[in-house]
Amino acid sequence: MTMLQAITFDLDDTLWDNHGVMARTEEGHYRWLLEALETWRGVRQEKALALSHEGGGLDYLQRRQQLAKEVPERRGDFTWLRLRALEAQLEDAGLHRSAALMWASAAMNEFHRLRVQVTPHPEAAGLLAALAERYQLAAITNGNIHLKRQPLAGYFPVAIAAGELLAPKPDPTPFLTALSRLNVAPESAMHVGDSWQEDVLPAQQLGMHVVWISEAEDQPLPPRVHRIAHIKELPSVLEKLERHHSGGVYSH
Ligand SMILES: [Mg+2]
Repeated sequence: MTMLQAITFDLDDTLWDNHGVMARTEEGHYRWLLEALETWRGVRQEKALALSHEGGGLDYLQRRQQLAKEVPERRGDFTWLRLRALEAQLEDAGLHRSAALMWASAAMNEFHRLRVQVTPHPEAAGLLAALAERYQLAAITNGNIHLKRQPLAGYFPVAIAAGELLAPKPDPTPFLTALSRLNVAPESAMHVGDSWQEDVLPAQQLGMHVVWISEAEDQPLPPRVHRIAHIKELPSVLEKLERHHSGGVYSH
């Protein structure tokens, strides 16, 4: 076995809990859009659009789902889907095309402003700083968080937005892209993530080591896969692996 040289990380629900920020972002950017539009139309003495937060929000979701079916290669490019869905919704609600484009884009700026307000686990920054001294690090996400503006961006010289690559995980492309940018063979790399389907299986099948973040204690694990309940337990897995590689107690 070769020594581990690189570690790739999933972001959402691996380095931070994503649920709260996603719910606030979803609700917040659409509310912002409706309020800003109402003010804008009020100033211009135009009547408010017939879009409510609830009905409009549902229609916005359905438009995204429909678009993902019609343009399957974009199904993981959530920013593109949102932008196109908002543009179409606003145009159908009576805005001129140029205004619809402008407001959809403004709403997505607000979306990204809210989306990067994640709170990494308190151990994450210190852990990544220590790992960076020893390993090359990369991030591979299916999410559409702004990769340069997220709070741990500084630790990831290589960061892959798989949805925008048009090949969301479990497609092997984002893993292979990261490995090629790091110039590391799969067997000398480890992927860390919380999704069995999107993180564990594809990385394991490529021959990478995998750390699965999960509470599922009774699940049988394929070779090279280790399970931990929280990212803070990662150093103990690495220690075991490194001891093994360096011909320590485990190989005698
Ligand atoms: Mg995740």
